[in-house]
Amino acid sequence: MAHTRKATLLRRHARLQGRRLCAWLLLAGRLQHELIPQHMGRIPWATKNNISGAGVVAVLLDTGNLVLQFPNGTIIWQSFDHPTDTILPGTRLFLSEKARIIGRLVAWRGPLDPSTGDFSLSLDLSSGHQLVIWHGTMPYTRLSMFSGSTVDGRIYQNTIIYEAIVGTGVLRSLSWNNNSSWTTTAEDPSSSCDLYASCGPFGYCDNMGVVATCRCLDGFEPIGLNFSSGCRRTKALECSRQSHFVTLSRMKVPAKSFHVLNRSFDECTAECTINCSCTAYAYTNFNSNDSMADQSRCLIWTTELVDTGKYSNRGENLYVRLADSPVQKNRRLVKIVLPAIACLLILTCIALVGICKYRASKQRKNEIQKRVMPEYHSSSNGTGGESIELPFVSFEDIAAATDNFSDLKQIGRGGFGKVYKGILDGLNNVAIKRLSMDTEQGIKEFKNEVDLIAQLQHRNLVRLLGFCIHGDERLLIYEYLPNKSLDAFLFDATKQYVLDWPTRFNIIIGVARGLLYLHQDSRLTIIHRDLKASNILLDSEMTPKISDFGMARIFGGNQQHANTSRVVGTYGYMSPEYVMGGAFSVKSDTYSFGLLILEIVSGLKISSPQLIMDFSSLTTYAWRLWQDGKATELVHSSVIESCPLHVLRCIHVGLLCVQDHPDDRPLMSSVIFMLENESALLPAPKQPAYFAMQNWVTQEPRENMENSANGVSITTLEGR
Ligand code: ATP
Repeated sequence: MAHTRKATLLRRHARLQGRRLCAWLLLAGRLQHELIPQHMGRIPWATKNNISGAGVVAVLLDTGNLVLQFPNGTIIWQSFDHPTDTILPGTRLFLSEKARIIGRLVAWRGPLDPSTGDFSLSLDLSSGHQLVIWHGTMPYTRLSMFSGSTVDGRIYQNTIIYEAIVGTGVLRSLSWNNNSSWTTTAEDPSSSCDLYASCGPFGYCDNMGVVATCRCLDGFEPIGLNFSSGCRRTKALECSRQSHFVTLSRMKVPAKSFHVLNRSFDECTAECTINCSCTAYAYTNFNSNDSMADQSRCLIWTTELVDTGKYSNRGENLYVRLADSPVQKNRRLVKIVLPAIACLLILTCIALVGICKYRASKQRKNEIQKRVMPEYHSSSNGTGGESIELPFVSFEDIAAATDNFSDLKQIGRGGFGKVYKGILDGLNNVAIKRLSMDTEQGIKEFKNEVDLIAQLQHRNLVRLLGFCIHGDERLLIYEYLPNKSLDAFLFDATKQYVLDWPTRFNIIIGVARGLLYLHQDSRLTIIHRDLKASNILLDSEMTPKISDFGMARIFGGNQQHANTSRVVGTYGYMSPEYVMGGAFSVKSDTYSFGLLILEIVSGLKISSPQLIMDFSSLTTYAWRLWQDGKATELVHSSVIESCPLHVLRCIHVGLLCVQDHPDDRPLMSSVIFMLENESALLPAPKQPAYFAMQNWVTQEPRENMENSANGVSITTLEGR
């Protein structure tokens, strides 16, 4: 039964097309047709005469296509190429060619009157991209935007046909469903406000609600009580004034658009922005089944916007130009200014918190230091030096790094405390000197060392990396030097052979350069006052680094000499004028350096049991050998075999440095010059008489002793 109804419809279509076919054939003047009733899909009738010798037949196919063909199958004519009011799947309606309308659907005059009605469907050539149902010559309703030149019947789920309903002008989509009936799936127009321009200029038909209603576009207001006159702008557009675009989504774009070819979306926006008569633009999705259709989707409007609609489930973005109102301007201003102010405020807060934290930590440090070292704060470093900017490391971190100061981590012990090896975050291996808590002098030395070394940087000076004050604890963190101190090599029977002559000479030169930096090349003049083999540390390449600045003194400006009633240092290394009168200068360090040279060359300690007992000290022993032309006898056995000439030059320079009178001793700059230039003439050294007279040999250099007082000294002598 259902099949019969469908067949009826298809037959109706074929009948209509047949009318055209007859006209065509009659016009051709070749046909005397005689219907031969047959079944559907078979030949229903055939011509008696044949065209060009063969019998031409008309076949009504199951698709509803009425085909006129030669017996060999060549199609002469088919109804699908000439639809009247209906499009079936497979039908092709040719709409336009070379900007000329060539095809249209035309409605029947009435349900039972197939003669040409008032309504038709074709392209609107004025826009070129618009399918319109016409009432006579007037647009009745606009369909979707369209690019291409043909409309094809389509199949969707089931058969769908388009049909222009006679008389009413409604384009109806019908679907053949399994219930064996035709169902209407869509209708255009679907409401009265879908009729062309029914809501007037700048009005639109709102299809979002249950009942379609006319409304004004954003930025517009109704002109009258109904929408026959449309809407007007709430603020007039002026070319000379600022404007902006409001985005309206899911819109049926207005009629009378101008299609701009070859534009991207941004270019389309720019096109409308720069053209002050452009009222709106859209970047539309054209319906097209034509692969050759223009791909550019830019539409602009320069006139009033008519026949617009809004849907809940389809449509385009329409960008409508509106004048800037003060409110909008303010809104825009607010949009830019507010975030900027907020960012500024946040940044200011972060900066303030940072500054407060920094100040608080600095103040905390100062307070700790004031508590522990009041003297330090009252006098700074005594020469107006800058305050410490070294990292403050927490006691807990240090305790963790040294396994709670475990003996296994101890690498040495000096006059002021033990030295540990540890690993601190970001600093790798470090040497941590934990000053003894019971030494009152330790506080001053601590102050001195931190203050001083923090300001010094030289490859021959050990680097101080941080410090810690925790209750009575004071700790210094140094770079770790894997070969430890020079004395451990020099006076160790198994290790002293590691020190060949080039290594010994490099150590002498390195220490000399470090001293020159302290005396002359740094910003301050610094007297070390405790130069000795155990205060020369060696890195992995045996580069010497002067350490232990606990005794050091800074000279300001042109100051050359100073006196102290508190003589500190290590016996034997102290110069006569310092031991006798507490006077010290850079030449005091030169004296100690001279002794260090003699120790490095000979491998003998300054007052060594190995010394020949006739000599009171290393200096007198060396001088005597020098005088007797037997200086090579002083040279240590590990270097004697390869003893080059400048070993003797080193002994010569050493003797010049240990002369009794400071003025006779060379400055460190001269010392380096004399050591490095073998052709330089050297003055003869004077006899070091002082220690010979004083019989200092009975005084063992204080070694492994901690801060013992020396009652022998004329001044208040405080050993380390
Ligand atoms: P004094 O305090 O009497 O001058 P000292 O100079 O030997 O004696 P410290 O400076 O405390 O005393 O050093 C003790 C030992 O610790 C050194 O001899 C050395 O072996 C080791 N030591 C010190 N500093 C470091 C370091 N930065 N790297 C490696 N080892 C070190």
